Amino acid sequence: MICSGCHQEIAESELSCPQCSRLVHGAELEELAQRARASWRVGRFTEERALWELSLRLLPQDTVQFRSIQARIHELDEQAAAASASSRAGGRKRRWEPDPFWSCF
Ligand SMILES: [Zn+2]
Repeated sequence: MICSGCHQEIAESELSCPQCSRLVHGAELEELAQRARASWRVGRFTEERALWELSLRLLPQDTVQFRSIQARIHELDEQAAAASASSRAGGRKRRWEPDPFWSCF
């Protein structure tokens, strides 16, 4: 596999280029992020969560993107737990504004 950033040979198993740290699955990740965002917009959080989980598998763990997505999944879990635990009126409505982290892909 040849890195599209620095044109060095990189192992098939790598998630990012050891030379220039370019993400190997950048295009795929961008697509997943777009789909997750689309699901988020229409309130399909289960679908959104599944898409983020797929993204995590394509990302090296030491990236900002990985941590952002992990945080988002955690937030979705909390949101789901809160929604099922109580039907309190006037629950906090926290809108998650997606970080522009897909712009670095
Ligand atoms: Zn590279």
